[in-house]
Amino acid sequence: MILQSCFSQPTSTPRNCFSINNPFLASHLKRSFKNCCFCSFEKRILILKHDLHNEYCLKSISSNFKIRALESDAGQLDEATAERTKSDYGDLVWPSPIDEIPFWNRELPSWDISSEGPVDIQKDSDLMHIVHVTAEMAPIAKVGGLGDVVTGLARACLTRGHKVDVFLPFYECINKQHIKELALTSTYNSFYDGSWVATNVYRGVVSGIPVVFIEPSNQFFKGQSVYGGSYNELEAYLFFSRACLEWLQVSGTQPDIIHVHEWQTGSLPLLYWDMYHYLSLKKPRIVLTIHNMEHYGECRQEQLSKCGLDGSMYANEEKAVDDRTIGHNPERLSLLKGSIVYSNAIVTVSPTYLKETLCSGWLAGTLIRHRDKYFGILNGIDAAMWNPATDAYLPAKFDANNVEGKKICKLYVQRGLGLASEVHSRNPDTVPLVVCISRLVAQKGLHLITNAIRYVEELGGQMVILGKAPDGRVESEFRGLAELHSKGSSIRILLMYSEELSHMLYAAADIVLVPSIYEPCGLAQMIGMRYGAVPIVRKTGGLADTVFDMDDQSQPELMNGFVFKGIDEGSLNGALDRAFSYYRQKPDEWRGIVKKVMQIDNSWNNTAGKYIEVYNSVRVRNH
Ligand code: ADP
Repeated sequence: MILQSCFSQPTSTPRNCFSINNPFLASHLKRSFKNCCFCSFEKRILILKHDLHNEYCLKSISSNFKIRALESDAGQLDEATAERTKSDYGDLVWPSPIDEIPFWNRELPSWDISSEGPVDIQKDSDLMHIVHVTAEMAPIAKVGGLGDVVTGLARACLTRGHKVDVFLPFYECINKQHIKELALTSTYNSFYDGSWVATNVYRGVVSGIPVVFIEPSNQFFKGQSVYGGSYNELEAYLFFSRACLEWLQVSGTQPDIIHVHEWQTGSLPLLYWDMYHYLSLKKPRIVLTIHNMEHYGECRQEQLSKCGLDGSMYANEEKAVDDRTIGHNPERLSLLKGSIVYSNAIVTVSPTYLKETLCSGWLAGTLIRHRDKYFGILNGIDAAMWNPATDAYLPAKFDANNVEGKKICKLYVQRGLGLASEVHSRNPDTVPLVVCISRLVAQKGLHLITNAIRYVEELGGQMVILGKAPDGRVESEFRGLAELHSKGSSIRILLMYSEELSHMLYAAADIVLVPSIYEPCGLAQMIGMRYGAVPIVRKTGGLADTVFDMDDQSQPELMNGFVFKGIDEGSLNGALDRAFSYYRQKPDEWRGIVKKVMQIDNSWNNTAGKYIEVYNSVRVRNH
């Protein structure tokens, strides 16, 4: 019975080629044919050209003798597990590294997370209109955490009853199929560099959130990625910031709050208070979120003048001069500093990062001067977008009370990437899978990530890195490492951006690694925890606010991961040692941590209320 359901012979493949759909049986086959390349056993397509052993193995399977042997072996499987696997995952098409289409690019079910919004959120009584002006929005225009934060916070505020719009550049690279009800609303003119630029406004709905897309008729925002187009990025965002205000004015819209993010929209508070407030926009108040203090929006005075302000008016210490350039000729401006000065409230993305930014960095002085309007609010994650119980990208769903599906996800990823897998229902796994999903930039602790590759392999674990490196030298270093490890069975390095694969990796991971040198908040550790991956993090910024060491007895109720302090390899190795030894030697405790981290509520449902308080503290009621 089990055998029948586990084998199939696809018509397109040669004779003697079987597809083995049952992971547990596959692991038995592996043990039966010790000398073969078992990884290839599990492929749908015969791999004769890759390894002759496979031919032998597959022929052997078809002999009566071997079938009998396997039947008796399979009979020893845990009946309940085998039955469940057969009924729940019998249809699962297991991936392999030689698939023509990699498993994360397969056609996945369409997924509208707006239908999965939390329903048990209490509506606020005092409602307002919030407009986010942003360079990123998940999932259509996401590069890092900024996109996640905008979508998560906007959805949480919508759920609480507020009116929310997101204003986004209409990047050429946006996949329009992900936008519902997309329609051209209007064409208007917005000022730039001495003339008026015809600009289209589209409206659409993304993840249940109304979005206003701004599309200038010039070359801005053209190209195959969100950032790094062939146009001048700074000038494109200066244009965008003014175009948003211009559209609010043209359309007669007066939101309560205009929420700007990062340096890209840093000129908007200046344009609002020194231009549009004198024209017709009276009601809005401006909230700025700083997601990462390292990007200052360096801007020459004449560039700022292109959006219609007099750049020279801002070249002083109180307003927007970049303090590091004082005394230079010419001095530069910082859009981030200008927006700190001009916004009604400033938020950064964790309480610890708030303290760190008040103590170090050249903007500390400006932040101290504006301390009374500066708040630290921990980011959340979108509980619908990141939910292993409903995630459409996962081959199997799971939750804190039933983690069986997580094992399937791990096996699925291992097979798809050609990592060794060892599945047997009676033996606890001894090979933890460590996952690191990150932009590959210095901030993220590149030397620690490369060290982890070496050390995880030495410890007998597995590691998968999913990351994109904007810097060519970093890219080629990681490409070399990827190449080096591509033939082995324990390390994979995937140098690309893939939202779908990131979901699958979080679900497959036993451990999520975030070894950042500094980290304003960090979402990877929170997402990882929701998917049952135990975090290993460096104690900095938001990582220090969300992960508490398993061996720190001072706050036992918070313990949820492994924390190291130093920026040296030894510190990270110590944390890896401790995590591996928990995993291997204390499996019951490990299961307990997995359950615990999945139950932690790091969602926006928990923290959006703090943003609402900030909005309420600055909004003007009688207009
Ligand atoms: P940052 O904003 O500095 O990039 P965060 O931890 O705040 O870091 O957010 C990173 C977000 O981007 C997470 O949702 C993470 O899963 C995602 N991410 C980073 N790199 C990739 C990648 N290569 N492919 C898919 N998602 C990625």
